[in-house]
Amino acid sequence: MFKSFSRQNNSILSSCLYPCSKEQYSVHINCGGKQVTVGSLKYDADEASGGGAKFFHHETRNWGFSSTGEFGIKNFDHYFIAENISLLKMTNSELYRTARISPLSLTYYARCLGNGNYTVKLHFAEIVMRDNRSYYSVGRRIFDVYIQEKLVMKDFNIEKEAQGVDKEVVKVFKAVVSDRALEIRFYWAGKGTSNAPRRGIYGSLISAISVESDLKGLDLQTGFFGFKQIKAATNNFDAANKLGEGGFGAVYKVFCNSIFPKLGKLLDGTTIAVKQLSSTSQQGNREFVNEIGMISALRHPNLVRLYGCCIEGNQLLLVYEYMENNSLAHSLFGQEEGLFNLDWPTRQKICTGIARGLTFMHEESTLKIVHRDIKATNILLDGDLNPKISDFGLAKLDEEDKTRIITRVAGTIGYMAPEYALWGHLTEKVDVYSFGVVALELVSGKNNIKNWPNESYVCLLDWACVLQQRGDLMELVDPMLGSEFNEEEAMRMIKVALLCTNRSPTLRPTMSAVVSMLEGRAIVRELLNANSSIYSDEVRFKSLRYVSGDSDPTSEEFV
Ligand code: AMP
Repeated sequence: MFKSFSRQNNSILSSCLYPCSKEQYSVHINCGGKQVTVGSLKYDADEASGGGAKFFHHETRNWGFSSTGEFGIKNFDHYFIAENISLLKMTNSELYRTARISPLSLTYYARCLGNGNYTVKLHFAEIVMRDNRSYYSVGRRIFDVYIQEKLVMKDFNIEKEAQGVDKEVVKVFKAVVSDRALEIRFYWAGKGTSNAPRRGIYGSLISAISVESDLKGLDLQTGFFGFKQIKAATNNFDAANKLGEGGFGAVYKVFCNSIFPKLGKLLDGTTIAVKQLSSTSQQGNREFVNEIGMISALRHPNLVRLYGCCIEGNQLLLVYEYMENNSLAHSLFGQEEGLFNLDWPTRQKICTGIARGLTFMHEESTLKIVHRDIKATNILLDGDLNPKISDFGLAKLDEEDKTRIITRVAGTIGYMAPEYALWGHLTEKVDVYSFGVVALELVSGKNNIKNWPNESYVCLLDWACVLQQRGDLMELVDPMLGSEFNEEEAMRMIKVALLCTNRSPTLRPTMSAVVSMLEGRAIVRELLNANSSIYSDEVRFKSLRYVSGDSDPTSEEFV
């Protein structure tokens, strides 16, 4: 199951030899004991004794351990498991009645984990040494604990920590899983007693291990959505059921009913949208789905809900909530007949909604996310024209909470912040910039890179900067609105848009500040002429080059 039990180049040795059929987000082990259920959690049995061997290992599908060292006594293989038959008084005593002990090194591996942040709980109770007046009270058990190669506890003494024997101590740690595997090592470094009260009972001791993804609400239904059912429901991905096509593949509409029991159970009577990922790289897509899985745990009224995904063979499908009114781009720039004109209150609602969704992603959620591709086609509208941010295809988990310089810049021309397009400088301010462009498009009803008034302007934003200098900002407002709009709100939206698209990321506001400004709770700072140089010659030249077709003219993406 595991590549090796020795470390090579400090790499995680618990990498899988074969692909994981399914990611798991929790592991519970009753070390040295039987399978037990505590509350809603089932702790796996862990009863392998190893026959007293110097090295032995045990593995299940999702976890395993290796034990190294011997106690120096023959025919005492049961010594690798400690047992306490007396009545333990602590709650959940089932977890503490038995424990695994190890003379030297004991390493547990959890595999096939979804990458992300985890909470690791280590349950201990000293069930061998005594604190009475017997000879068993002279023993001292001292050991070290490592998680993901990092020393998390040095000279740990259960009895001392619990202030007595037969008392539980639960130690909680945070761990990051980036390679699908988690490793917890208990290591006896020669401290404490080894012969007293007698041989074979010293070393590290662990009663139970609990590993839980930090994404508590995660209920990504992988495997729940069967490919067969989706194929049937879309009439074999019939073009008639196609809602649209994006960079990652086509999106289909599926109505769930009892004909498709698997889907129907969860979503009976609802319509869902299924994105079929065009598979270029299987592994890449797997990672993509995994990343998406984590993002899907984030719930907010302004983020499109991802119900789950289907991974079967080389088929990768993502199942989203269905958004009745398609994308903002479709409503705002669509030429089709019968398309409604978005009135002012709706535009105001859409603008604040997007800003709220971004505030959540940047500032409020546990995972800080930079979307990287905010644009009108990635804002979907539900039945009540509420906006929801979609397509996290380019989203990057911003775990490190620091500025990143990335070498592969991906986004869409017309929406990309200059520092990102030119230098790959990626912060959440990149989204603030793109949001500013979308806000301008909302006010004006014009696409930033098409439809601006005349050839002398690079784009809508360029025109807006010129109008700002002339003091004619209201000229930007969509003529389709006639006089049916709130002037104060419109002016605020324009000014916020210009602030957001400032050339300097530092001068751009945070998204929470944007929400306050749009709602009139904060004054919009006016940076006079701040954007006059938004297009330095370099950026202007670069944008023009791409717009004029030096790049792939069929692609909107600027990669
Ligand atoms: P995307 O790949 O996410 O950019 O999606 C491509 C197109 O499919 C979008 O522009 C929409 O027209 C449509 N679409 C995507 N997701 C949904 C959804 N959840 N509900 C309705 N239409 C969608």
